[in-house]
Amino acid sequence: MDWSDEQISRLRALWSEGHSTAEIGRRMGISKNAVVGKAHRLNLSARPSPIRRVPGAPQAPRAPRPAPMRAAERMGFPPRSFNVVAAGHALRPVAPPPPRPVAPPAPPPPPRLSNTSCCWPIGEPGKPDFRFCSDRALVGKPYCEAHAAQAYVRARPRHEDAA
Ligand SMILES: [Zn+2]
Repeated sequence: MDWSDEQISRLRALWSEGHSTAEIGRRMGISKNAVVGKAHRLNLSARPSPIRRVPGAPQAPRAPRPAPMRAAERMGFPPRSFNVVAAGHALRPVAPPPPRPVAPPAPPPPPRLSNTSCCWPIGEPGKPDFRFCSDRALVGKPYCEAHAAQAYVRARPRHEDAA
């Protein structure tokens, strides 16, 4: 059909008012297809749903779609599939490493394993009178009871200093 400038103006006006193509065609006495085709050739912007009819109102901008969310949904996020993957990972029979036998720290070798005499030094090493105490040592200790007590007392200040 031939479109006069008046018809085109009418089409633009009705189009901008948000009428459906069928309604525009009915008002202009032309077919809906003619309206669609002309609107396409005129490069008229797409309109919101034809249901939205506000005669005389300026064309409302389209409500922004939550595109990011849509994209996320298409990607399966958040994510049932993610949970499945995570669950599958968790359910995978991954044997935990066997508990290591707790090896006790190697005890320092007792100075005199085969000798139960006190090895508390008496005198100055290198001097002729230097000797060891040689009293009966406490079980598991290199010193006799008296020297073990001294060793313990001596060690304590160092321990406190370290603390
Ligand atoms: Zn001793």
